[in-house]
Amino acid sequence: MNTSAESSPVLVQQCPVCDAPLRVGTFRSGETVCGKCGHVIWYQKRMVDDVAIIDAISGIVAINTDIERVSKSLIAEPAKAHVILNLSYLKFISSAFVAGMIALQKRIRAAEGRLILCGMHPIVRETLHGARLDTYFEICESEQDALDKLS
Ligand SMILES: [Zn+2]
Repeated sequence: MNTSAESSPVLVQQCPVCDAPLRVGTFRSGETVCGKCGHVIWYQKRMVDDVAIIDAISGIVAINTDIERVSKSLIAEPAKAHVILNLSYLKFISSAFVAGMIALQKRIRAAEGRLILCGMHPIVRETLHGARLDTYFEICESEQDALDKLS
């Protein structure tokens, strides 16, 4: 559970799953829920050409519970899912979050897409390394490196 309720540096203006507009200025990490689809907002989505960039803004929300919905919204893009998960806003991630990333990776790979993680804080990297997942995921230092890899 998230009890810190920190404000996010990112202003999420619409639900990244169903595109419903969110009330601007009300975002609280792990607390903002889309009124339309019920998704707990933990990321915002940006498109750069055909690549979906996900800025994770809460590393505590149990994303594995809604990963089905999230991966569907990503794989629904007309081109094969190319997804960059930018973790630079997160200082740590929960084990539920890691489980969610694994589930996301599996679904994107099953759809012949590609997922690249970038912007990892040293503690986040250590978490993945400790779980021996730093070779399971494709990892780039920066978002630009990830974009270059996918182009
Ligand atoms: Zn929604």
